[in-house]
Amino acid sequence: ILCLLAVGALAACGLTACTNEVAGKGGHGRPRIGVILPDSKSSARWETADRKYLAAAFKAAGVDYEIQNAQNDKSAFTTLAEQMITQGVDVLMIVNLDSGTGKAVLDKAKNAGVATIDYDRLTLGGSARYYVSFDNTAVGTLQGQGLVDCLNAAKITKPVIAELNGAQTDNNSTLFKEGYDAVLAPHFASGAYVKGPDQWIEEWDNTRAGTTFEQMMTAQPGIGGVIAANDGVANAVINVLKKQGLNGRIPVTGQDATAQGLQNILNGDQCMTVYKDVRREAAAAAKLAIGLAKGETGVTDHKVHDPVGKRDVDSILLDPKAITRQNVKDVIDDGYVAADAVCTGE
Ligand code: BGC
Repeated sequence: ILCLLAVGALAACGLTACTNEVAGKGGHGRPRIGVILPDSKSSARWETADRKYLAAAFKAAGVDYEIQNAQNDKSAFTTLAEQMITQGVDVLMIVNLDSGTGKAVLDKAKNAGVATIDYDRLTLGGSARYYVSFDNTAVGTLQGQGLVDCLNAAKITKPVIAELNGAQTDNNSTLFKEGYDAVLAPHFASGAYVKGPDQWIEEWDNTRAGTTFEQMMTAQPGIGGVIAANDGVANAVINVLKKQGLNGRIPVTGQDATAQGLQNILNGDQCMTVYKDVRREAAAAAKLAIGLAKGETGVTDHKVHDPVGKRDVDSILLDPKAITRQNVKDVIDDGYVAADAVCTGE
């Protein structure tokens, strides 16, 4: 009964959901939210955007919060989560480093009566109450289409296409790949493009991406277009191309609309990036977290299927936007990246 009262509506939840939604620790004063970010190297976004905008949203709502970064260390990730649970967070929000570690942490939280949110990356087989992200297959579609457009514009015929995917342990990498592979498939089938090397970049590591791309160039001459899963990977590829004087002649995709990515686009070295306005993602996740901490049920707009856990997760998915040379300005006008961060040294 208490549970139903706290949730505010009898029909709003089943018993299991209620245990989560009352946020176990209820009644100890201000709601407390813990966030664990994955690392600070695989993309500039985590420290420059996610941390900043999540903190702003929590501050504005007057909740207590703690945002930590696991720095790509799985045991640190687990320790941070355990500490947050012990310290009595009402809600734990994670960007997993892999689904295994993520699931263990989510289950621990759940058993302790802590509500959970998968932020940006879905934990396969996990138990998060909510998932907040962008439509990641759509991100991949934009990357694939962006590459096709750049190849057409540059009139590159019969290009060998190299793919540098994200970390295989990140479910988003799989979704991005599904998106761009679906766009490229008919071009391979018709013989317009040639399927080239295709590799996952462990941990999204930019140094590995550079080495991998060097090996790809040696193993398969004639690479004429590159799918690079994010701006960091793209920059590593561009650096390799620069050494051979090929930058700007082989289109390279990206993602995240980082200052560096936008700079590479303006310089003509990168074909496109995908702008995911992290302010919206952070605001949506913070709103859900605050609601959960207060024992409320949040409003979501999607059900995302977890093929491992065989369940549909209540989710919020936002729309990504393709950025090319023509509309870099949109990201700046939008206030997402400052002009002087992009136009350094000019
Ligand atoms: C995120 C990307 C990011 C990548 C590497 C993905 O899960 O969606 O925005 O570039 O991780 O950190």
